[in-house]
Amino acid sequence: MVATPIGNLRDITLRALDVLKEADIVAAEDTRTTSFLLRHYGISTRPVSLHQHNEQKKSEAILAFLEEGRKVALVSDAGTPAISDPGEYLVDCARHAGFEVVPIPGANAAITALSASGLSGNGFVFQGFLPAKSSARKKVLASLKALPQSLVFYEAPHRIADCVTDLCEVLGGGRRVVFCRELTKLYETIHSCTLNDAPSWLSSQQKGEFVVIVEGFGIEEKTGLSEEAERVLGILLDALPLNQAVKLASSISGENRNALYELALKMRGSAIV
Ligand code: SAM
Repeated sequence: MVATPIGNLRDITLRALDVLKEADIVAAEDTRTTSFLLRHYGISTRPVSLHQHNEQKKSEAILAFLEEGRKVALVSDAGTPAISDPGEYLVDCARHAGFEVVPIPGANAAITALSASGLSGNGFVFQGFLPAKSSARKKVLASLKALPQSLVFYEAPHRIADCVTDLCEVLGGGRRVVFCRELTKLYETIHSCTLNDAPSWLSSQQKGEFVVIVEGFGIEEKTGLSEEAERVLGILLDALPLNQAVKLASSISGENRNALYELALKMRGSAIV
């Protein structure tokens, strides 16, 4: 599993280059992209295609190749394979079949973005791509909204605006968000603002690849409620109207009803967090 650059071709490790040189084949998400990288480093190993639509079928052929004692390097178009990219199925099959799976670490867009975000201190939840449809996207966001950790998303250039609209609606406009665009490339941009201010900033930007990091639910801004009370309230809010959820959460946890009400408003995104 060989990590490759996410933009700047020099972000590849010496070990990755050795492994790509020594492999018998390079299984690649897009053979053209990988050929470009291999040519750049004067590596003549043959790339063969393995992408999300042929991974299951190609995995059989690759396992047969491994049976013959050959070495296969797996790469994706950018960054670390199997992280929001093909590779997971092959890794699973290969390990089950008794082959050694060796990770060769390197670039990854999420970690690169986190390191420059200023939002890495409280831990993070890597969500990767949200669903394409708004209703499904909002459902996933609702399940993440009470988490104290930073939320890390990947987003495609054509969906970033719609995604931000839903982030605002579900998580509330007051949270900090950091946009990391075109990392390691010529037009790398890292911008921090509130979710409320995000749509107007985005509309002034060129399209590009984005990692979006949203700060987690602000524990320190909460109302002194126990974690258990928050957890219970979060569950009830998913199933019940706000007032009913608050009343029940207060009965279950014994916590103050007004404090729970305030928290419920924040969780529903109708108040600034
Ligand atoms: N496997 C890759 C990794 O390790 O980061 C991720 C591949 S995923 C298919 C592609 C998404 O990663 C893009 O839509 C974008 O969200 C993010 N991404 C990849 N390269 C990026 C870059 N240079 N700048 C910002 N985001 C990037």
